[in-house]
Amino acid sequence: MIDLRSDTLTKPSAPMLQAMFAAQVGDDVFSEDPTINVLESTMAALFNQEAALFCASGTMANQIAVKAHTQPMDEIILDKTAHIYYYETAGFAFHSGVSVKLIDGDKGRITAEQVIENIQPNFDWLPKTSLVCLENTSNKGGGSCYELKAIEEIKAACDAHGLKLHMDGARLYNAIVAKKYTTQQIGGLCDSLSVCFSKGLGAPVGSVLIGSKEFIRKARRIRKVFGGGMRQAGYLAAACLYAIENNVERLEIDHQHAKQIAAVLENLSWIKEVLPCETNILIFTIDETKTSVEAVLSYLKENGILAVQFGKHQIRLVFHLDISSEMVEEVERIFRNFR
Ligand SMILES: *Cc1c(COP(=O)(O)O)cnc(C)c1O
Repeated sequence: MIDLRSDTLTKPSAPMLQAMFAAQVGDDVFSEDPTINVLESTMAALFNQEAALFCASGTMANQIAVKAHTQPMDEIILDKTAHIYYYETAGFAFHSGVSVKLIDGDKGRITAEQVIENIQPNFDWLPKTSLVCLENTSNKGGGSCYELKAIEEIKAACDAHGLKLHMDGARLYNAIVAKKYTTQQIGGLCDSLSVCFSKGLGAPVGSVLIGSKEFIRKARRIRKVFGGGMRQAGYLAAACLYAIENNVERLEIDHQHAKQIAAVLENLSWIKEVLPCETNILIFTIDETKTSVEAVLSYLKENGILAVQFGKHQIRLVFHLDISSEMVEEVERIFRNFR
């Protein structure tokens, strides 16, 4: 099977497993796991911040960030398709008791102007706007990414209005590779960032939350109350360190694969629209007068390709390190043959 359902499906490679086996470990609740300590200090330095915290998942890292930056009765500003709003089981309400102000952004991206327009005035009967969350790349936006300038403008708006800025960077490295900005540049613009290793970077588990020393001290306590204090988790952190060393530059290959298929889909009569393909995610809309999502997905499956429905008439394909160029050729052939 050529599994394009998600980049979370990647399995650790033999050398990644070797790095995991060889890890030095200790009790991380006591901050005594040397491999986790190295991962945290490496990520903090890379992103121009003071500290970092290893988390079990991207959801946990995001939810800790929301909790640490807000008080109950606050409101957070984010795009209407944001993972933090859409795919984290309403954790913002459950854990943090905050409201959301949803922005009708451009493929998952919001602007500084939209942030400013949506800050609540200061009245007893309104929630208090305290946090802006950006998603880069945007999952539901088809892997779209922010220009550095747009983030700079949003950061300036946040600073001017006393808001914190969190970046959901589950696929931040895809954006960094595609837009050619540096980890230093992007890290310095945010109050906190979450980065996933279990997506296109190919590690089995793990995300890191990055920010100031004071923020991470608070985040550590919240991680504990969420049940996320792990012990000899350095075996997992070793996979993340391996991923940073070995699997970042190659993300460009996934982006090329996605673009290769996007170019093919553009010319198929039964496809109405292909979202602009900037990174490793490719979303397209079926022309429902000609076929259906169900028919396409079952045709693909019969031919050894797995994909997922994404919205009413849309399908998402995600390219990742377990997808070779030969597989992409095969995907191209199968799509061309659909009748
Ligand atoms: C996958 C993802 C996350 C985190 O998901 P987990 O499965 O909890 O690691 C967060 N944000 C975005 C945009 C994602 O795609």
